[in-house]
Amino acid sequence: MSAAHTVVLVGAGHAHLYVAAHAETFIERNARLVLVDPDKFWYSGLATGMLGGMYEFTTDQVDPRALIEAHGGEFIQDRVETVDTCTRRLCLAGGGDLIYDYVSINVGSRVNVDAIPGAAHDPSVWSVKPISNLWTLREHLEARFRAGETPRVAVVGGGPTGSEVAANLSALATRHAIDPRVTLVTQSDRLIVQAPAGAARALRRNLTRRGVVIRTHTHIVRREGKSLSTEDGRRIDADVVVMAIGLEANSLVHEMGLPIHPKEGLRIKATLHSIADERVFAGGDCAALEGFDLPKLGVFGVRQATYIHANLLASLEGKPLAEYQPQKRYLAILNLGDGTALSTWGPFWWNGRSSMWLKDLIDRRFLEDYRHHVGTRRKC
Ligand SMILES: Cc1cc2nc3c(=O)[nH]c(=O)nc-3n(C[C@H](O)[C@H](O)[C@H](O)COP(=O)(O)OP(=O)(O)OC[C@H]3O[C@@H](n4cnc5c(N)ncnc54)[C@H](O)[C@@H]3O)c2cc1C
Repeated sequence: MSAAHTVVLVGAGHAHLYVAAHAETFIERNARLVLVDPDKFWYSGLATGMLGGMYEFTTDQVDPRALIEAHGGEFIQDRVETVDTCTRRLCLAGGGDLIYDYVSINVGSRVNVDAIPGAAHDPSVWSVKPISNLWTLREHLEARFRAGETPRVAVVGGGPTGSEVAANLSALATRHAIDPRVTLVTQSDRLIVQAPAGAARALRRNLTRRGVVIRTHTHIVRREGKSLSTEDGRRIDADVVVMAIGLEANSLVHEMGLPIHPKEGLRIKATLHSIADERVFAGGDCAALEGFDLPKLGVFGVRQATYIHANLLASLEGKPLAEYQPQKRYLAILNLGDGTALSTWGPFWWNGRSSMWLKDLIDRRFLEDYRHHVGTRRKC
């Protein structure tokens, strides 16, 4: 019997992993569930540890094809280029297309490398997104370390991501018995401005002790040759630059003809569908929930997952949709690459080996859950 409806998941992001792992619930309702993604799922929770040499890339990935096929859904390895919401047609980069009854968008975010003139086409400049870049960067640096080089690395952005990246670049050099030459640059007056001041001071002490040079009040305006130019005319020498200047919604949402916030993403209601189209759901970094200014963090996509799943099923059945309420506080743990981590939860913070133990446990469990879903194949 052919399926009555087609539901397409665009992007194997945090929210869609959950939906893919419950593909049988769509088949039970006589619907096809199709997931489209050009790549594997790369988990950001372990990403900086992978950069620092603590994890291999295989530990950081989930295979979305294996996951959804184990539960009776379909996988297409491709990139969605356009979503035409009038004809309900998705165009794929590989040339094919797909007609949907409902679509959900979970395509994540990007770093706007163009914000620093001269950076976009420079092969020595790396962006922290996609996460796979961090694996390639590690391979690149390890090859240079093995060749006896000690490249100077500048990380631009002193938020949680930039700080974690700098800490793990230092760890990677130390693993290779090389003195780290890492500079962390921020235009703010301190690191991790979102976190309590005490946590930022502890982070600064940790990084400084390990040889990371921290430059606050420093606004980078250009990449020229092997240096970065600052607004006040100084130069920072850097053979390699890592851009961690904040995340913006994937540009796919700009092409859909639906209301967006240019940086935050597709404007969605609490029911997680577009404010203008009830057939288009979205979650994670590419979505902007009306009335909230949520940081671009995987934890929100993870929490939205069950709502996207439930609301796609409810839409197929014509039932009322559930409303998602984001959590007010969330646990953030920064892996500092030296066996310790820095945890923050609202105004509270603590650091040390216990934080790292907890982060490793949470992140490995998250990935293990999905690997377990692949192992428990659906019986036809
Ligand atoms: C270095 C680093 C460390 C971080 N650490 C943490 C952390 O510890 N905890 C935390 O909560 N957050 C962390 N974040 C933030 C986190 O990465 C993001 O918030 C999270 O990845 C967003 O998840 P998502 O589900 O929106 O998208 P993603 O998980 O990024 O998935 C998007 C998917 O969409 C696919 N895709 C993209 N474009 C298309 C297209 N056109 N067609 C089809 N598929 C497409 C991609 O291939 C990808 O698989 C970190 C970010 C960085 C950069």
